[in-house]
Amino acid sequence: MKKTFYLLLLLGGLSACKGYTKIVNKDSSINLSAETNDSITIHYIGCSGFFIKKGNDAVLIDPYFSNKKTLSFFGGGLTTKSNISDDVKGTINSVFKHVMGDTADRQGLIKALLITHGHIDHYGDVPYLVESRRLNLDTLKIIGSSTTHCYLRGDSIPEKNIIKEIEASSSFEGIEGKWINVSKKIRVMPIISEHAPHLKILGIHINFAFQKHEHESKRYNRWRKYNSGQTLAYLIDFLNIDGSVNFRTYVNSSAEGYPYGFPAAPVLKQHRVDAALFCVASFNNVKNYPEDIIRYLKPRHIIACHWEDFLNHSLPSLKKKPKTVPLTNVKKFFKRLDQVLFDLNLGINYTCPNVNTTLKFLYFNKELPNYRKPKPRKQ
Ligand SMILES: [Zn+2]
Repeated sequence: MKKTFYLLLLLGGLSACKGYTKIVNKDSSINLSAETNDSITIHYIGCSGFFIKKGNDAVLIDPYFSNKKTLSFFGGGLTTKSNISDDVKGTINSVFKHVMGDTADRQGLIKALLITHGHIDHYGDVPYLVESRRLNLDTLKIIGSSTTHCYLRGDSIPEKNIIKEIEASSSFEGIEGKWINVSKKIRVMPIISEHAPHLKILGIHINFAFQKHEHESKRYNRWRKYNSGQTLAYLIDFLNIDGSVNFRTYVNSSAEGYPYGFPAAPVLKQHRVDAALFCVASFNNVKNYPEDIIRYLKPRHIIACHWEDFLNHSLPSLKKKPKTVPLTNVKKFFKRLDQVLFDLNLGINYTCPNVNTTLKFLYFNKELPNYRKPKPRKQ
């Protein structure tokens, strides 16, 4: 039963993806246990973009829909109402409708927007989503680094919606960190992480964008000028009524090496990670990634992300014909993933969703009110 979720589309004839990995192109269900009484949905947008939704509560991570072509990606700037194309608008409409039931979050379902770092494929569509009122500022809290805060201020996003000084409360080696209580049902733990080099030639690390931190309000006309700032990974807990953890997600948007991206051990003891969303791009530029973080987290399920060629293909074209990200040997990533999961022998499965694909996780929640613990058997 456990593997029934693999309603796989083996994309025959696609040279970039042939033979080594099973891309899930259709909305699918994943059973985390044999008996199930609860569920949550994780929708992969593309890059590190995700909606995580449970009932009337959702978290949005690094939303990037516009998949600019190489020239406008490097030479252009943010997406705004004045420069967005009708095609991208249509894509956003269809994704929002698919996940939220509406082309904008009029009901205020999205309680938190998490931004992992300041690069355009993680931040670049946020100004448009806010100014076009697709995000609901009555309910939304935005969580990102102090550099992200400078960009949000530069884009006139209200201070009341921004959670500040995230770095000070983040989890890192030996520092437990503080949970950010987003709502009664959601809490978020930022984790200090690091941005992988885009290239490594003869041991020299090359980054196409800067890693610096911003200290003042900024809006640039050129993507090149956007700095990553402090890169963050996150733990996202959906909570039961009694405050216990219902479902825990881990997300990183960049390959990372210990201690970066590793939450402090006591946090992990509270609840095992149910779903870990791991970045594929540039994995080969970081030693022992993804092996170390997988061995540390031992998540129940892994979702591979940031694996597709977001630079040269729109989301609809990737949906039809997936292509892998340049400068990364994606085939090798999955070989190494297979190997580490085989070695761990914990029954951990993974999914590589195509862009704009919903995964519904089914699991057992013993905190549900209708659950009765089985009576101990008489001896
Ligand atoms: Zn980046």
